[in-house]
Amino acid sequence: MHKHNNLKKWLCGAAIVGGSCLYLSQHSEFLGKNNAKDEKVKTSNVPECVEDTYKLIGYSMTDAFKYGVINSISDYVERAPYKIDTVDFAGDFQNQVIEFGYYEERDGQKTVVLTHINPDTLSIPNASPRLKKMIVDFANYHNSKNERETILAHEFGHQATDPDKKIGASIHLSEKTPHSVFEYNMTAEEFALICNHDELRGRINGLLYKREQYKRYGTSSVFNGEYSFYGRALRDGKINPFSTDPKDIANEQLFCVKAMREQYEKEHIEHYEKYTIKRLNAEHILFDSKKEDEYNKALDQVYTFIWDGHLANLNFYSTGQLPELRLTDEEYAAAATKDARDSSTRNNEGQKPHAPSLYRPQTDNSR
Ligand SMILES: [Zn+2]
Repeated sequence: MHKHNNLKKWLCGAAIVGGSCLYLSQHSEFLGKNNAKDEKVKTSNVPECVEDTYKLIGYSMTDAFKYGVINSISDYVERAPYKIDTVDFAGDFQNQVIEFGYYEERDGQKTVVLTHINPDTLSIPNASPRLKKMIVDFANYHNSKNERETILAHEFGHQATDPDKKIGASIHLSEKTPHSVFEYNMTAEEFALICNHDELRGRINGLLYKREQYKRYGTSSVFNGEYSFYGRALRDGKINPFSTDPKDIANEQLFCVKAMREQYEKEHIEHYEKYTIKRLNAEHILFDSKKEDEYNKALDQVYTFIWDGHLANLNFYSTGQLPELRLTDEEYAAAATKDARDSSTRNNEGQKPHAPSLYRPQTDNSR
């Protein structure tokens, strides 16, 4: 489950403008890697079932794009299934926390859920006409296509990094994403970082959805609320999403990640603290120091986005172009505790006699 900013923060919609220096192109290298992968698909002996490619809608946006079933984030958002929750809102702008969307297991399947806000003016008959109008305006704003689809792009961003294995089991495609980003061999601190990078991914995917809408319809008003920094950068000429110059593209990609990251650290990270610690304690797999540390692989998966008709790797952390995220003190403490506990578990296991082998006497008479 992924909490979004509370109502108050949502209404404030503060944003930060990141720098816009020129950096070397990131995506071209990744594109090369992908082309190599595409070659493998073509020459692979594994039979590729075309019907299975359609099952990728509802499994992973990245995979659906890789197999040509969708051509953009907007395309996926329009076609992928999700559920709707309805929340009544009677004007408690100060205290009611509304989660605008989730990605969670429901009825045995991981599902994207979108919140529909019902303007509940009936339960406050004595409210002023001004308050009632504010409630209705808020609901209309949130239930609008732009807001709904931005949240959906965010949640479908989570789905691609943590796809449902039960759905995946019926998809027989060699290039299907095999597992979640939370299953890589990582230390507890790296796991806590991935939880936060994944939230950032959701937000960036929301931004890239808006960017697609802007490029398609020319409406810079889509960059509202916490995304308004992008609209300002457009107007100031800091970025040019229509440019085909690799330097401009690299500049814009870094700008998007850097600005969203700064905003996340400043305004949102603390809202995900409980979620991160809970997930760390529930799902982090004991780090195996004898095997490769796969944190950078997890980052690559988290930061793979659909960008102007190809998959782009916006992982600027492994390349050192952006400093690592700064966790909250509580998150660092929880990760340190978990790492210490895991380390003592490993040491104890090393001293113990070997665990009983899984061999069992053969009792099957059919042989
Ligand atoms: Zn989220």
